[in-house]
Amino acid sequence: MTALEDTFRTRTGEAPYGTWFAPGRVNLIGEHTDYNDGFCMPFALPHRVTVAAGPRKDGQWVITSQNKHETVTVAPADLTPGRPGWSSYAAGVVWALRQAGYDIAGADLVLESDVPVGAGLSSSAALECAVLTALAELNGLDIAGMDRARLARTAENEFVGAPTGLMDQAASTLCTAGHALFFDCRDLTVEQVPFDSATFGVEVLVLDTNTPHSLVDSEYAERRTSCHEAARQLGVTALREVSADGLGDALTALADPLLRKRVRHVVTENERVRQARQALRTGSLDELAPLLDQSHASMRDDFEITVPTVDLAVETARAAGALGARMTGGGFGGCIIALVPAGRTDEVGEEVARAFAEAGYAAPAWFTATPSAGAGRLR
Ligand code: ADP
Ligand code: MG
Repeated sequence: MTALEDTFRTRTGEAPYGTWFAPGRVNLIGEHTDYNDGFCMPFALPHRVTVAAGPRKDGQWVITSQNKHETVTVAPADLTPGRPGWSSYAAGVVWALRQAGYDIAGADLVLESDVPVGAGLSSSAALECAVLTALAELNGLDIAGMDRARLARTAENEFVGAPTGLMDQAASTLCTAGHALFFDCRDLTVEQVPFDSATFGVEVLVLDTNTPHSLVDSEYAERRTSCHEAARQLGVTALREVSADGLGDALTALADPLLRKRVRHVVTENERVRQARQALRTGSLDELAPLLDQSHASMRDDFEITVPTVDLAVETARAAGALGARMTGGGFGGCIIALVPAGRTDEVGEEVARAFAEAGYAAPAWFTATPSAGAGRLR
């Protein structure tokens, strides 16, 4: 019996019906493209939310987070959007499933997670997708992968009230081990692109800058609004429709220099995602690594979503031997990702830690990420 099953048994007096999991994710490339109907290419982390679950007869959902050392009881009457607290990520999934017409019976859920929280590695989507995977099977529901991702996103957008794109939930649900997930955010189609970093002779360093996120919600909303306004002025439904070839004309057509910068980021970033897919297909590190650097420059100079800690981390990683590096995630803090020659990730991490100490920043945390499996049943 696992420790989680043990806790489940102690709390409920019964063995769980099963144990399910869903991972956090890191985005290899393609930032702020999802709400522009564009492309991104995340992969799943080995870090995951694991949930032991079993049916309850009283029609309630009793949810324990081992990380929070807290148990919350949710009755059907409590399923009201905007409910505060961590349990709303789980209650939101119940709500979204019921909104979609599924009959969801009461359940006991005991979860634990090793996904860093609030680092931009999608602990929230991992929680939603793990709960959704558990509830779908407990209730005998056969829901296609992308529909699961959409339901989890509905929970986050409409119940929790966080206006995120679909990338996190799609990655947590649909990624497969050894692959990055090329995701077309308009067609909602995916392609599993082999990404075995060992074939490139590199490892993927993920370094959390531990920067306190400030302004992130208002800045995110501003970027979304700017992109939609630019699309309106260009007469397209979404910036996805502006091709790399059409970028020059689009920039000429926009009077506002700020909108021009925002558009340039989105259009060039979409192009970089496609080029990165091609580089992975052909196994070309020489093509892949510079795309990360270009993506970072674009986020820093055109989309203006990086902050000094993040820029310092990227620059230091590169100076310490990373072949390509960029901020990953929504911005204003969070993590960077770097392609580092195999066996040297700690060396690079330590260099960044030294630079942070010198600059008076909080110490960063880092790990080496291997593209891992999407949501599923564990036991
Ligand atoms: P991120 O998804 O980047 O980690 P978010 O702010 O989107 O950051 O989501 C973090 C929130 O998700 C936490 O504040 C908490 O409410 C919830 N959460 C994530 N993991 C857990 C967990 N293991 N137990 C309880 N709540 C969690
Ligand atoms: Mg999140």
